[in-house]
Amino acid sequence: PLPHDPPPAGPSAGLREWQRPLREQFPIITGHPGLAYLDSAATAQKPRAVLDAVQAYLTGCNANAGRGTYTWANRTTALIEETRERVKAFLGDPDPERSSVWFTGGTTEGLRTVARDWLVRELADGDEIVVPFADHEANHLPWLEARDLLAERGVRITVHPMPYQRDSRDYDLEALARLVGGRLRFVAVTHVHHVYGADMNVHRVREVVGPDVPICLDAAQSVGHLPLDLAALDVDFVVFSGHKAMALPGTGVVWARGRRGGAFRPGGWHGTPNTAGIVSLRAALDWLDAAGPARIEEWTVGLGVRLTDGLARLDAYEVLGCPLSLAADSAVQRRQGLVTFRHRTVRANDVGFVLAAHGLLVRADGLCQARAGESESSVRVSLHVYNTPEEVDRLLGVLSTLAGDRP
Ligand code: PLP
Repeated sequence: PLPHDPPPAGPSAGLREWQRPLREQFPIITGHPGLAYLDSAATAQKPRAVLDAVQAYLTGCNANAGRGTYTWANRTTALIEETRERVKAFLGDPDPERSSVWFTGGTTEGLRTVARDWLVRELADGDEIVVPFADHEANHLPWLEARDLLAERGVRITVHPMPYQRDSRDYDLEALARLVGGRLRFVAVTHVHHVYGADMNVHRVREVVGPDVPICLDAAQSVGHLPLDLAALDVDFVVFSGHKAMALPGTGVVWARGRRGGAFRPGGWHGTPNTAGIVSLRAALDWLDAAGPARIEEWTVGLGVRLTDGLARLDAYEVLGCPLSLAADSAVQRRQGLVTFRHRTVRANDVGFVLAAHGLLVRADGLCQARAGESESSVRVSLHVYNTPEEVDRLLGVLSTLAGDRP
């Protein structure tokens, strides 16, 4: 840096002291000092406490749930029930006596379950729903499938695309308000956008749609990254992936509020649940709670700001989503630690290969965005508590060599 350059943005020194011992708890991170894992939006790494909990379960009392008369089976059943309560507490569930928690393989399966096992039974001819058309396709395709299933039965519903603001890419709540009429029966929203990293202002959706319209929240990119407060969000379903929240792959959750949850009975017979995954989820939520989601948010947002500040100095790159000036202005439309950008001339795959050759593991190209196209040929950097300012600087250094600018 030149002498007149401002010091790089990023997390405070105090926060640095807090983060260092946490990073040490991720064996895959400490075991690969030459690599920087920058793809946590795809899946998060697991702290030792999660790995230990899984090993202790599999070597201590592995059994099938709900069907045994011996201690291991009973312990397995208890672990699953305890995890349901753990999920409710983690989400700040204001009414845990009446809500329900269902385990799935991830967000995709969870949203599909809400669509097939609940929504199609709720809707009648002429009803309307609002769903995102520019979020993750997992929060888009299941609702269109529900529409098609209903059409096969002669029930015609209208699917409105969720309106977006042109500048910020946030939901346009004024336009949404105009869709709220006598027949609006359901709204699907995303908490944090998987391309723009934007917090989508979902806490304001309830006041817009009124008390009676069920809201389903895709929290895949928020659980584990920021504090969730169901009392404030006032939604009816929360769906997330355990594996993105530091639990094992193949682990996910649907939380259903009592009022709606009573009618939500996913898919008939259940076979053997993913017991080790559920055990890992409990350990992961314990770990995240102890680390503190608010500080994790502060840390990753700080790293994201350091990255966008650096990218803003490199003319070759364009950051997708809310313009940086707007993002910095607004307290609400805050970018989480997830930044997607494009090189103006070099293809994303090529940028990805160069970064990988330098040990920088990012997502390049194809971000599963429903009907947008904008995220095609883009590079996504998604940060978590184990990432460091040095890793961000290393990334900016390599990106600058591809840009022909100084970092
Ligand atoms: N929703 C969002 C916002 C996501 O970012 C993702 C994954 O990237 C999903 C849904 C799908 O999650 P999973 O692959 O765990 O089913």
